[in-house]
Amino acid sequence: MKHPEIYLDALDNLWFQVSGTLCNIVCEHCFISCSPVNHSFEFMSIAQVSAYLEESVKLGVKEYYFTGGEPFMNKEILDILERTLSIGPATVLTNSMLIRPHHAKRLKEISDSSIYSLEMRVSIDGYTEEMNDVIRGKGVFKKAMTGVKLLVDNGFLPIITITKTWQDKDDDKVLTGFMDTLKSYGYARPRLKILPSLKIGKEAVRTKGYDEYEFVTHEMLEDYEIRNLICANSRIATSKGVYVCPILIDSPDAKLGESLEESMTPYELKHQACYTCYLFGAICSNFSSTSHDA
Ligand code: SF4
Ligand code: SF4
Repeated sequence: MKHPEIYLDALDNLWFQVSGTLCNIVCEHCFISCSPVNHSFEFMSIAQVSAYLEESVKLGVKEYYFTGGEPFMNKEILDILERTLSIGPATVLTNSMLIRPHHAKRLKEISDSSIYSLEMRVSIDGYTEEMNDVIRGKGVFKKAMTGVKLLVDNGFLPIITITKTWQDKDDDKVLTGFMDTLKSYGYARPRLKILPSLKIGKEAVRTKGYDEYEFVTHEMLEDYEIRNLICANSRIATSKGVYVCPILIDSPDAKLGESLEESMTPYELKHQACYTCYLFGAICSNFSSTSHDA
């Protein structure tokens, strides 16, 4: 079966796999199986990032996203962010555990001295130690909340990103739990973003993975708002070239070239993870139908 192809509408957003597949923790649901020893993708240097930034300006990119792995494992992350914020807004996806007072202070300085915004997105999967650490590992909750507090104390309003691992009937209970916990750490008006789980990588092992029928078909895309899919407006630069999206970097066919220009080709939605994108829309952007600002 030939799957539908998606064309890049405009390269509005450029992602960087800035810490590769290296992470300080090993989450049970990580869709790219990051860990302290996963060297499939390495850290990106400021020189590598800068070359892509330069190319991105010519292509009209509007926003930048930094992910991993854990971006704060990359020793050059603060300089990379400063450089990026000289040309456009940036968002960092982090587990916040490695953020120390001097990082938070410098992040504030970088943010204050730019005309562009710096958003911090912090992944936490439970509003209690028990709920979070069963997925993210022992001792993670306390360290992550320390990072959140440092960000809040330095004037940031981090977007708390939560992968949905509970049943629909518990939605209100979980959201209220998060709001109460975050407020108890001094975060007066928490911003929450709920993400669906992507059943690939470690998550395919933790759950039963996708069902056989879960693919995107031509019929499904009739009257569908294609720009909901991040591959319609984004690409991700990595230490090994440019890939179609942050979700599929483990799939060799998702590599589209060495430069951004080479990567601006159509892509066939042949992966089952595409089905989750189809169902839930802009799952990687800062705001989507599953975001909650309070
Ligand atoms: S889900 Fe995020 S924090 Fe957890 S192992 Fe993967 S990259 Fe690291
Ligand atoms: S996983 Fe999502 S963003 Fe990536 S190619 Fe498939 S639909 Fe596009």
